[in-house]
Amino acid sequence: MIRRTRYLFTGIVQGVGFRPFIYRTARKYGLAGWVQNRADGVWAEVEGRPEDVNAFLDDVIHRPPPLAEVAVGRFTDVLPKEEGDFRILESEGGTQRKVHISPDIAVCDDCLAELFNPADRRQRYPFINCTNCGPRLTIINDIPYDRARTSMACFPMCPVCRQEFDDPDNRRFHAEPNACPACGPRLQLLDKEGQSVTTDDPLRETGAALKRGEIMAIKGLGGFHLAVDAANEKAVQELRTRKLREEKPFAIMVRDLAAAKEIADISPEEETLLQTPQRPIVLLRKKDRTAIAPAVAPGVDTFGVMLPYTPLHHLLLQEFQALVMTSANKSDEPICIGNREAVERLQGIADGYLVHNRDILVRCDDGIAAVYTGTPTLFRRSRGLAPRPLFLREPLPEVLALGAEPKGELCLVKENMAFMSPHIGDLETPLARDFFHETMALMERITECRPEVIACDLHPDYYASRTAARMKDHRVISVQHHHAHIASCLAENRETGPVLGLAMDGTGLGTDGRIWGGEFLLADETDFIRRGHLKHFLLPTGETAIRHPWRTAVGLLQMAYGAFWPEWAGRLRLLPADFAPAMMARILDRRINSPETSSLGRLFDGVSAILGLRREKVNFEGQAAMELEALARQGHGSVLPSDMVREDGVFILDMSPAIRILTQQMLAGKPVPDLAASFHATLVAAFADLSGRICAEENLDRAALSGGCFQNRILYEGTIASLEKTGLRVLRHRLVPNNDGCIALGQAVVAGYRIKKERTL
Ligand SMILES: [Zn+2]
Ligand SMILES: [Zn+2]
Repeated sequence: MIRRTRYLFTGIVQGVGFRPFIYRTARKYGLAGWVQNRADGVWAEVEGRPEDVNAFLDDVIHRPPPLAEVAVGRFTDVLPKEEGDFRILESEGGTQRKVHISPDIAVCDDCLAELFNPADRRQRYPFINCTNCGPRLTIINDIPYDRARTSMACFPMCPVCRQEFDDPDNRRFHAEPNACPACGPRLQLLDKEGQSVTTDDPLRETGAALKRGEIMAIKGLGGFHLAVDAANEKAVQELRTRKLREEKPFAIMVRDLAAAKEIADISPEEETLLQTPQRPIVLLRKKDRTAIAPAVAPGVDTFGVMLPYTPLHHLLLQEFQALVMTSANKSDEPICIGNREAVERLQGIADGYLVHNRDILVRCDDGIAAVYTGTPTLFRRSRGLAPRPLFLREPLPEVLALGAEPKGELCLVKENMAFMSPHIGDLETPLARDFFHETMALMERITECRPEVIACDLHPDYYASRTAARMKDHRVISVQHHHAHIASCLAENRETGPVLGLAMDGTGLGTDGRIWGGEFLLADETDFIRRGHLKHFLLPTGETAIRHPWRTAVGLLQMAYGAFWPEWAGRLRLLPADFAPAMMARILDRRINSPETSSLGRLFDGVSAILGLRREKVNFEGQAAMELEALARQGHGSVLPSDMVREDGVFILDMSPAIRILTQQMLAGKPVPDLAASFHATLVAAFADLSGRICAEENLDRAALSGGCFQNRILYEGTIASLEKTGLRVLRHRLVPNNDGCIALGQAVVAGYRIKKERTL
C-alpha cells in the first residue's frame, strides 16, 4: 500500500535550512514527492509506505534543523501519483511573504569539527558557518533574507563555495553567509590608535596581547567585546578603571564546559542552558576557590558564564581557561558595531582591536539567563533569540510598543506573533536614542509592518512616551507599568485574565501619580484593579535616593517609628557625617521632593542600608539587593511579623513590624546573614498570605509573577513554592525576562486587546 500526504509547515521554516532538511529526510525514508517555499509557509508532499511517511513526520516534528521552529504541521492525505524521486521546487513568490528572520546561532558541531581539522579547507577559518549555524539577524539589511541584502553582499562566493551553496545534499545549501578563506571575510589587527598592524596571524597576536594583560576590543557577532584574561586581577582592575564600571559583575567566556565546571557549581539544567544554540550568559554559583580574579564579580556569589559561540571565540579560547568578555561600550551606551566607531568610542579603553571586514548591521548584545526552580529564566532577551517571534493565543491588531525606561526594548505585534527587538539599553544617552530609532525602523522593515497604533508607558516624561507623542499620524495608547508586567506574563503563557498579578519591581508610575512597585493587581489583558500593595513610604530626595540608599532607609524608619525615626537613625549611624539630621527632618516634614512609593526594589535598598550594606552609595540599581540576597543564602532566617490593613477594599501590606525587629536585632549585634534571610522569609510568607486572601475573595486559582525583584532567586523560588502550597497555579515568565525587558510585550498586548474590544463593541 502507498500513501501520499500533503503538509503545510509554518513558523520559522524559511532561511533555516528547512527545505533541504525535508529533502534529505524524505530521501532517507525512500519517499517521493516535492517541497516548496510559498507565501504562507513551506509546502510538501511525500509518497511511500505508510510507516515511512509516519517516520518522516516524526523526524520533522521531533528532530527539525536547530534554527527551525515548526509551529503547525497541517496535513491531509491525497491520491498517490507514483512519482520516482523527491524534488525541491522553485519558490513561489507573493507580496506578503511570511518570512521570519532567524536569530544568530552558535557555531554547530559539524562546523567546529571542520574548524579544527587540519585537512579541511576551512581549518582555523574564523568565519566558518552553514545552514544550521552562524550569523543571521546581525548581518541583514532587509528581507527577503538572501545574500544580496546582507553584509556578505560584498564577498562573491568562490566556485567551491558556490557549488556547496547550490547542492541540496550539502550542509551549506542556501547558507547565505557561506564563505571560506579564499572568498570570505578576514581578520585584521589594529593598534591603540586604530592603525593596521602587519601580521600574518592577527588571532595569535591578540592572544599574546591578552596574555600580557592588555585590554583587547574584539569584534564578535552582534558587536564588540572588551576582553581581558579573567585570571589576571590587575588586568581586570584596569578594565574597571578604564570602563568606569566600578563594581558591576563582568561576564566571562570559558573555553568549554569542563572549564565552566572548574569555576562554578553547575546543575544538569544549567549545563543544558549553557549549551543551547542561543549560548546565553548563564548566572552560575561560584565555587569557593577558583582561578578567576576577584575583581570579575565582587560582592556576589555568582558568575555570569558563557561558552564560545563563534568560530573566532573557539580559536581564541584555545589558549585561555576564561576571558572576561564584556560589551564594548562606556557604561550604559549601546554596544559598538563598526570598526571605526569602535576605535572612536573605545579610545583610552582598548589597547588594540581585533576586527574583520564583515559588517555588523544590527546591534545585538549577549543574552543573559539563569535556572530558577529547574527552569530557564531570562534576564536579557537578545542575541540568539531576537527577533524570533513569540506566538500569542490569538491574532491581534498591529501595534508597536516602545517599552519602559531606563532600559529600552521594542515589541511589534502582527497577527498572532509578537516580535521582540534586541535589548537597547539606557535611553539617557544620544547614542542609545539613535539606536532606539534605528531599531524601530529595523523592526518595521523585517516584519513588513507599520502599525498605526503605538503603545507606551503612562509616564509622560519618558523618552519613549515623548517619541510616541510626536508621532502625529498614530494613535497612542499608554499602559500602566505594572499592568504591562502582568499582561506580558499572561501573553507568553497564552492565557487570559482575570488573574492575580504580583508585580514587584523598582519603580513605575501609578494611576494615582505615586510611584508603584509592590503591587497585587487583579488584571486581565485590557485593564486592572489595584487590590493590594506594599504600604507607601516617603522616598526623601526622590531619584537621588536610588543611588544613596541611606536616604531610602530614613524613609523606612519614618514609616516604622514615625516621629521617633531620628533616634533610631542615630543609633544605626545611618546618616553620613556631613548630612545634618535636622536637614533630613525638614525634607521629610515638608515632603520636599519626597514622593510616596510602594516599591519593593526601594524597600530592599532601605533594608540593606539598615543592615549596614551599601549605605552611602550604590554603583548600579539593584546592587544592594544582590548583596543582601547573597548574604541571606549564608544565613538562617525566620518569618517576622508584618501588618495587613484594609482601606477602601484595598489590602495594604505594612512591613513596619519586621523593620522594627530587624533594626533592633541589628543594634543587638545579631549576624547580618540571619537578618537578611529573615527579611526574605517574611516577604515570601506575606506574599502568600495576601495572595491567598485576594484569590479567595475573587475566586481565582492562578497568580502571575513579574517584575525585576523576581530576579532575586530566594524571593522568586520562595514565592512560587509558597503560592503553589496555597493551591494556586503560578504563571511565570520563560520567554521574556521578569525585569522591564517584558514591558514592551505587555504594552503591545494591552493596546492590541483594547482595540480589539472597541471593534467588537
Ligand atoms: Zn554549522
Ligand atoms: Zn569560498
